Amino acid sequence: MNSVQLAESRVGLVRGAYVDGGWAQSVGGNIRVITCPADGTHVADIAECIAADAEAAVDSARRAFDDGGWPASSEKERGRILLRTADLLERDKAVYAKAEALDTGKRYIEAEYDIDDVVACFRYYGGVAGTDAGRVIDTGVPGAISRIVHVPVGVCGLITPWNYPLLQASWKVAPALLAGNTFVLKPSELTPSTSILLMDTLREAGVPAGVANLATGSGPEVGAVLSSDPRVDLVSFTGGLATGKRIMETAASTVKRVALELGGKNPNIVFADSDREAAIDNALTAVFLHSGQVCSAGTRLIVEESIHDEFVTELARRAQKIRLGGPFDDRAQTGPLISSAHRSKVHAYVQAGIAEGARLLCGGFIPDAAPLAEGSYYPPTILDGCHSAMGVVQEESFGPVLTVETFTTEQEAIRLANDTIYGLAGAVWTGDASRAQRVAQALRHGTVWINDYHPYVPQAEWGGFGQSGNGRELGLQGLAEYRETKHIWQNINPGPSHWFEPSAAGEQP
Ligand code: NAD
Repeated sequence: MNSVQLAESRVGLVRGAYVDGGWAQSVGGNIRVITCPADGTHVADIAECIAADAEAAVDSARRAFDDGGWPASSEKERGRILLRTADLLERDKAVYAKAEALDTGKRYIEAEYDIDDVVACFRYYGGVAGTDAGRVIDTGVPGAISRIVHVPVGVCGLITPWNYPLLQASWKVAPALLAGNTFVLKPSELTPSTSILLMDTLREAGVPAGVANLATGSGPEVGAVLSSDPRVDLVSFTGGLATGKRIMETAASTVKRVALELGGKNPNIVFADSDREAAIDNALTAVFLHSGQVCSAGTRLIVEESIHDEFVTELARRAQKIRLGGPFDDRAQTGPLISSAHRSKVHAYVQAGIAEGARLLCGGFIPDAAPLAEGSYYPPTILDGCHSAMGVVQEESFGPVLTVETFTTEQEAIRLANDTIYGLAGAVWTGDASRAQRVAQALRHGTVWINDYHPYVPQAEWGGFGQSGNGRELGLQGLAEYRETKHIWQNINPGPSHWFEPSAAGEQP
């Protein structure tokens, strides 16, 4: 059996939720057909779980946490399981990449990069195991030992989006497991295949039954259980702003911990003294990578007025040459949008921007000729002459759409870059090292690149300011999200405190 057949057999045959270490038939019995956004071909039939399935998964996670050995197991052992998981993912990389490419429509090579990043995430948290046992406090009280220790939060509900399906899951699953939690994963209903595969890999790596659980299905049906069920202690969500707000509201009724990774309208500031070739080339990657379906995409080009014409003309010339195509088209440079419904939303943002006065430099249409007409493609689109009041500048279209604004002073560039309700990421391009540092300090965004765009490492925290979310993923803070902090005080020489001893004056016989 080759890797393609293997992927199809493993994904296509799965029915139901992953509960108590095995696949259970979905109570509702319905099936969702997954098709590839590149050409509409059939990818997999996936169980459409209902709330009862999600509740069974929560029940399994709760029992494994309350009665199982995982939370109290050695962190080093949990780390070893994460390292084994990384090895298995590497072994099965072709299967995973294939499934990810078919679900999302992204190029196979990009899916391979994503799986590499997933492996790196599991390796990072596997390597962190046992490096932080808390701390000892000097109480100043003789005979008192005081320690701060980490304990797992409990049952975690993990809800993920469709753009980087397994990567976003790994940012949650790896630290949640290392910290000793149990979890229920709810992948996007559009791209569930690799999360399903992950359950088999975790079992093979040695994760005990009930620790890892999964329920596929829709957000309002399955995801809602994870944010409302009182047996869930923490909900970690990556997705859109409106859904994030809803989850936060629902979680408030049981005072769950809530971690949100939401969207962004990320500024890419280019000064006239920057390396022109590097800035142009990276401005394209910043916004058009994965056809703009990247939360940190540099969708707002903020370019110094003096180089605007030359810069934007060249940018548009290159953008028009970007070749669109499916996962296994060797000539393709980027893929389709996730669905035709999503493409309609993106197109509506472009049309609204034009109606508000933006100048369309390239793209802005729905391809109607074969082979692109078979998929949900949208060409790289640049809107010039934009300003902060436009919806297309302020709201996340989550497509290949770049808006262009200009500035004349450093202060104006910073003001425009921070003029957003979001605050996920941004970049500054300049040859002046002092200015680079000043601007990086002033940007109210969780990640700032200087003369670069997009790189990240699992050791560095990722997350947003403002309405881009709360909490952090990756890095040590990404692990702290899944830990409770407990203070343990021990008196090694106990004796009466005499607090309520009757005073000599008021003593009754
Ligand atoms: P979405 O909000 O539509 O869905 C995300 C997940 O939430 C899906 O699994 C969905 O089924 C679930 N969901 C929907 N309604 C729910 C509800 N009522 N209760 C519980 N769960 C529910 O987002 P999407 O369209 O899948 O993803 C795109 C968004 O994700 C973009 O806004 C993007 O910026 C964001 N994103 C952010 C990051 C980051 O790191 N900040 C990373 C990737 C994507």
